[in-house]
Amino acid sequence: MSTSHPTLTLVQGDITEQTVDAVVNAANSSLLGGGGVDGAIHRRGGPEILAECRSLRAAQYGRGLPTGQAVATTAGRLPARWVIHTVGPVHSDSEDRTDLLASCYRESLRVAAELGARAVAFPAISTGVYRWPVADGARTAVATVRAAVAESPDAFDEIRFVVFDDRAREAYEAALADAADAG
Ligand code: ADP
Repeated sequence: MSTSHPTLTLVQGDITEQTVDAVVNAANSSLLGGGGVDGAIHRRGGPEILAECRSLRAAQYGRGLPTGQAVATTAGRLPARWVIHTVGPVHSDSEDRTDLLASCYRESLRVAAELGARAVAFPAISTGVYRWPVADGARTAVATVRAAVAESPDAFDEIRFVVFDDRAREAYEAALADAADAG
């Protein structure tokens, strides 16, 4: 097997405990913290992360980080080296926002590659407070990451999907199996 192609892996657990180069945060546009993944990252990572987020707000993102974009900070006390904050779309029944969700994965990987982060852990962006159906979120995550790493196969060693509960794990297992079948 070629070593130049990153592995896509699935872990059921807590994103704040992942020993990778970068963990992705399902942030909100304020960058000033929230619930779910965001709350856990700031709680365990400590105040250094929030301090950098505040500086980013002041310097570059006065109106907040736009949905679908990504920006990196220190990971503070987390085992990772960086946190890449990205803002997922709130799910809507009347409008298809899949492009924005895909953009979160693409932009986070673009930032990771710029940093030289070779192992990256993603939560199931938007599938919590932002109500994205997890099966669809998983398909979008897997398809987008596969396409992105195919474009720069030497940039990464591992892209890890980290899910909290059984339902999300099953959704990712199915999405990864479908992707493997599709070649
Ligand atoms: P969003 O606001 O983008 O929907 P959330 O943080 O509310 O983000 O939830 C995103 C997903 O992450 C949900 O599926 C939720 O169950 C899961 N989740 C929540 N906390 C953690 C954690 N500490 N580690 C990994 N996944 C988590």
